[in-house]
Amino acid sequence: MSEVARTVVVKSAPLPRKAFRVFVELEGMYRNMVEQLVLYAVRGNIASFTRLRALKYRELRSLYPQLPSHYVYTACQDAGARAKSFLRIKRRGLAEREHPEVKNVSIWLDDHLWKLDWLTAIQIATHKGWIRVELELHKHFWRYVNGGWRISSEAKVKLDKKSRRLVVCLTIKRHVEAYKPRGLIAVDVNEDHVAVLVDGGVYLLETRFRDIVLGYYYRRKRIQEKYGKLYGVHSRIKKRALRKLNERKKKNDLRWKLVNIIVRTAKERQYTIVLERLGKNPARGMINYMKNDQLRHRIYQASFKGVQRAIEEKAREHGVPVVYVDPKNTSRLCSLHGTRMVYDNGSRLGRCTAGGEVWHRDAVACYNLLLKALRSDGSSAPSYGGLSVDGSPVPLGSTATHDPTGIPKSLWIRWKSLDATNKNKLMRMSI
Ligand SMILES: [Zn+2]
Repeated sequence: MSEVARTVVVKSAPLPRKAFRVFVELEGMYRNMVEQLVLYAVRGNIASFTRLRALKYRELRSLYPQLPSHYVYTACQDAGARAKSFLRIKRRGLAEREHPEVKNVSIWLDDHLWKLDWLTAIQIATHKGWIRVELELHKHFWRYVNGGWRISSEAKVKLDKKSRRLVVCLTIKRHVEAYKPRGLIAVDVNEDHVAVLVDGGVYLLETRFRDIVLGYYYRRKRIQEKYGKLYGVHSRIKKRALRKLNERKKKNDLRWKLVNIIVRTAKERQYTIVLERLGKNPARGMINYMKNDQLRHRIYQASFKGVQRAIEEKAREHGVPVVYVDPKNTSRLCSLHGTRMVYDNGSRLGRCTAGGEVWHRDAVACYNLLLKALRSDGSSAPSYGGLSVDGSPVPLGSTATHDPTGIPKSLWIRWKSLDATNKNKLMRMSI
């Protein structure tokens, strides 16, 4: 059993002027403490919160006797975290200045500084006593609460001065029970597709991450050039135009939809997800044709690393086990004969040099991931949905393996799980 945590952001209703002023004062004192502490910590090379607290508690208490004492604790935690990350950057020689700047401040709260007032409001301890703050809760929040998440005692509060609201970041936690896997689902990620092998069928979910990244890259570049010339490099108009592209949000939406399908498919069957273990370098040198480092990095993040990380996160949340296998040669060797595959120039279809059978590159990759997972983990010995690993060509000889089922983005984007493939008539795409 493990525990997963998430952050939900909730806004308060607009506060009365008087109450909001108290929070402005509170933020000022808190910021002041954090600034002092960070400076002290960085100078003294102290990254430990407990040491920082031991050294500075008395001094800060006497400086702000009117504040509830636990603000000193949380300011020490906050400052400790800031100092730690700054010292790390400095050690690598990447720090731009001698001391870190405390720019954005959220007030950290612990269990002594806030409490739930039923589920629609919270109370926060301040130098002027407890203040009740109404929350504007959204559907998302209720879904978590009804789904068995508990609200934990850590919280952070930010001030939205324009609308006189508090922005409250709540941490919610839940225990998840992992199941005993009954099978495996292999997932191979590349820049245009995610291939999924489940119950003997390979599905190619079209993502076009590469086109998306490239498209945004050129659009960004155009905006930067045009607005940069007209209004200046750091102009607000330019920033607004870039923000309007909504690049990150659109990429993330697509990614989460895809990941939901995969994780849900695994969970419904109680399978383990098999992924390649990605190294630090771009997967299998697949996008090395990109001359532009930045672009290569972005495609890599959008497709390989981003999708893998999202799968890991979602799987953890749902108690779906994940195993990793060595990605070496996954699409280069025939899953049946273990011999080399030959791909014609740029083709995704390859021929086995021993048996002469034709494989789609992503299908081979998926089967090899599955085989590697089976070999490396004989202990729990899950069944693997009709695939014979003894080398008999019968199940692999079917056309299903050789022709993966291609699923265009416009179709899967509306699905919840791969079981939709049974309900929809799919064209077999030859790719
Ligand atoms: Zn073969």
